[in-house]
Formats: sequence, structure tokens, C-alpha cells
Amino acid sequence: MNAGYKIVLTADRTLMSEYAGNIFFGFSASAPRGFLPDWFYFHFLCPSVSVNRENGEAFYAPVGLRKIEAKLLECGFHRDEVIIAHPDYLNKAIGRETKVVSITTFDPLGIGPVTSTFSNLFGGDKAYNTYKFSELIKKPVLKKYHPKVVVGGPGAWQLMNECVQKVFFGIDTVVLGEAENTVGPLFKDAVAGKPLPRLVKAIPVGVEDIPNVVGPTICGLVEVSRGCGRGCDFCNPALTQLKSRRIDAILEDVKVNVRHGRDSVILHSEDIFRYGATGIYPNQQSVENLFKAVLQTEGVRKVAVSHGAFASIVSAPTMLPNISEMMHLDKRNWRGYQVGLETGSPRLLKNHMAGKCKPFAPEEWPEVVRQATGISNDANWFPVSTLIIGLPGETSDDIMKTLELADDLAKYQIMIYPLLAVPTGRLSEKDCTVKENLLPEHVELFLRCWEISLELWPKTFKDISGGLRYSFIEKAMLRTLLNIGVSWSLRKIQTCKSSFQDKQPFKIGKNTFQVSNQGKLMSVISTGSSSRYEGG
Ligand code: SF4
Repeated sequence: MNAGYKIVLTADRTLMSEYAGNIFFGFSASAPRGFLPDWFYFHFLCPSVSVNRENGEAFYAPVGLRKIEAKLLECGFHRDEVIIAHPDYLNKAIGRETKVVSITTFDPLGIGPVTSTFSNLFGGDKAYNTYKFSELIKKPVLKKYHPKVVVGGPGAWQLMNECVQKVFFGIDTVVLGEAENTVGPLFKDAVAGKPLPRLVKAIPVGVEDIPNVVGPTICGLVEVSRGCGRGCDFCNPALTQLKSRRIDAILEDVKVNVRHGRDSVILHSEDIFRYGATGIYPNQQSVENLFKAVLQTEGVRKVAVSHGAFASIVSAPTMLPNISEMMHLDKRNWRGYQVGLETGSPRLLKNHMAGKCKPFAPEEWPEVVRQATGISNDANWFPVSTLIIGLPGETSDDIMKTLELADDLAKYQIMIYPLLAVPTGRLSEKDCTVKENLLPEHVELFLRCWEISLELWPKTFKDISGGLRYSFIEKAMLRTLLNIGVSWSLRKIQTCKSSFQDKQPFKIGKNTFQVSNQGKLMSVISTGSSSRYEGG
């Protein structure tokens, strides 16, 4: 009989992938199943990290799990008591000695912004991430040895309902928030056989409480700061103030990744351009020092970032060009960053995210977005932006302002992905009834943004394909499929736009939409798992 590890940390299979070397492809995990064969998706788009088949250990792991692993070791657990296990090899890691199985989750119910948007607008089956979480939590090995099942991570808020948590998923404890100061005592109680609370609100974490990782992370993700403090209504990091880690601590995490064979890292934060800031203005010197130090670390060839903010870029307009110079960027060797564009309406911005434009005024927001995109493109940076649609109080006029801004931005290199508002941050369920209240303008905006974004997919794939972990033949095949898919989708968007204007039914994914003679979106009929409903 397998003794197993005392504490087993894991995540669903979609979080145990490096997406062939481009973490932005990770968004595909929120897409509904059924449009591509599963074997194709999991082989080409979401291939697994490598695994030690003897004990089930995942070689690369999500940075959040690595932090928990490091904290447990700091709290006195021994190296041979804690493992990060691959979800498909749990039977190698879990055994009679296992007392806790801890799972990090991103979107367990498929109600996060990206998954909701895909499922509401495209229809289809459950998203890959939701499907794989469900598969993981129902694995028989979790029942066999009766370990306590503890779930945390960015999607844990979705599991607060007692029935969902206990009856549907059989989870003992859900941990909400940053868990570093919570897991030690909680897991010690679990190991001692003490009863665990159903819900745990994590003890606040100071910057010095964030440990260094002890193993390599997915895509070499290195956390440089946590929190944001700009205060957008729909955002969880909004609620925590910005905490920047010390450069020497960051470099330790970089070196751990380099020691495990990496030559590229991604600096992870909510806004890399405000690293080291103590207020709303960027601390340009700190940001430049950070890039310099990471670029000078032996073994590092490439540095990328996860997120930035338009307002920070415009408040320190020489920062991005300086960083680009250090990184020797050019038209083919560019960098992308995720960024919240959210709206083109100063009114809506003022009501729901007044801090997003600071130090500028809400009225200046559209110009801030245009300038930041221009500065970025000139310095060979490429924004991958999100819009939030369906915020409480959003009117047709707000949507048209966003549409105007999207039209202006079409001349730049920028992707714009509209997402539905969901009840996160300070938004409640009742604030987010957009599914029933979609306006025709939402559909128009949605189609225009996808048109702008899709136009850039072929060039983007061509430029980044050198760094993707595919063979020459696979790259050629994927490029051909992508080009066919993009041409087909752009033609489809044109058809939808014509039908939309003529008030004829039109299909997006597996859903059918129609605009009524009164100019309202009058029905949405899904042929997927979403139910049929009447709207407008
Ligand atoms: S700026 Fe971004 S990270 Fe900060 S609170 Fe707003 S949405 Fe959240």
C-alpha cells in the first residue's frame, strides 16, 4: 500500500501546462469544450508539464502553489512530507499517510469573467478549466484515504456556498485570500486530526511574509509585487494595497528558475510599471533597476511581464522606452502585457473605477489609453487589453463611447477582449444581470473588438512562433489552421454585422441572437449547455 505524502498540493490539469511556452494562450482554458477535439486541445494548446512518474511530482508548478509549498517548509514541515503533484498522477502521491490535499483553483464553477463571456456569448459545453476542476475534485483517490480537502486560489470565492462546497464537491475547507500566513497553522491542525473550519478568511500577508519559491514555476513566473490599490469595483486585487518585494528576493526566485533550466522569466504583478511605488505615481528608478537586475542575472536571456497599466505608462513616458532599450526590443522582438482598458466612457469609469486613470482625471481616460498605446507601440510593446461590459448603470451612450475608442485604437497594435461583468470585488450577483440585459450595442462592440484583435493573430503567431515549443511541422500546421480560422471568423463577423443591421437572426458560436424591430436584443437561443432565455 502506498504511504503517500503527508501534504499533497495540486491544481487542475489546465493550470499544469506552460501552453507551449506562451502563458497568454492560457486564456484558452476558459473556452467552452466542444469546438475542438479534447485530444487536440490538450496535446497542442495545453500540453502537460513534465512529471516524475515514480511519485507523481509536477516538475513545473503554478507560482501560487510554489509559495504555499515554500511556506509549509518554512513552518516546519519536512521536504519529504510535502509534494506538488500532477493531477493525473495523484495515486502516486496520495496514500495512507496523506492528511491534506490542497488544491489551487482559478475558475471552478466557470463564472469568472473570461469563462462567463465565452459561455454566454458562444454557448457550448463547460469550459476546459471548469471541467478539469470537476474531474480533479471527484477523483476516487481523494475519497480512498480520507485526507482533508482544502481549496484556495483566485477562484476560491466561487465555492463559499455550503451546498456547492460540501455536497457537490466534498471540500472540507475553503481558504479565501492570500494564504501564506494561514496554511501553516491550518495544515498542522489537519495533520493533528483536529476539525477544520468550513471557511477560512486568510490572515493578512505583509511583503516580508511572501516566501521565495523552492522550485521552478509555470513559464518562469516570478512574483514582483502583489495588490494594486486603484480600487476598481470588479476586482479582487483592488482591495489590497500594492506591496513590492525586495529586488534581492525577486532575484532569488529568478535564480531558482534558472537553476532548473530556464532562460526566460515573466515578472508578475498587477502593474509592473508601478513596481516600488509608494503612491499612485510610478517609481521609474525602481522599475528600471528591477529590469536591469533581472536582465543581468546569469542565465537569463529573456524577460517578459504579465500586467501593466495605461495610466502608469503615461505618467512616466520615458520609462517604457528606457526598458525597451535595455531589452533590445524591435519590431519582431516585442513584448506584450495584459492591461485593463475596461471602458471608453469617463462617466462609467468615474462610477466604478475612478482610481484606474489616476493621476489623470476620468475625462482624460480615452486620451490616456490612446497615448499609452502609442508610447507602447513606439517602444515595441503590445497591449492585450480587456473591456468590462454590463457594469451596473451602463447605458447605450457609454457603450458607444467605448466603441468610438475601440475604432480609434484600431490603427495601433492592440488586442481588445470584451468580458462580461461578474460578481467579484465589490460587485454583487444582482449587479451583474447582463446576460438578461445585453443591449444590441454590446453585441456591436463585441464584434468590433474581436475584429480588431483577430486581425493581429496571424502576425502575432508568426513573431512569437520561434519561442513556442512545437516542431517545425507542428508550427506550419498550426499557422495554417490559425490563418484559416481567422479568415473564417472575420468573414463570419461581417455576416453577423450585416444580419445585426438588417435585424435578422445571427449566430455567435452556438448561440443565436436577434435584434427586435424596437432595436432591442430580443432573444438568445443556446444550443450548448447554457439555458434558453429571453432578454431585452
Ligand atoms: S487597476 Fe486593475 S488590478 Fe488595479 S484595481 Fe483596477 S482592475 Fe484591479
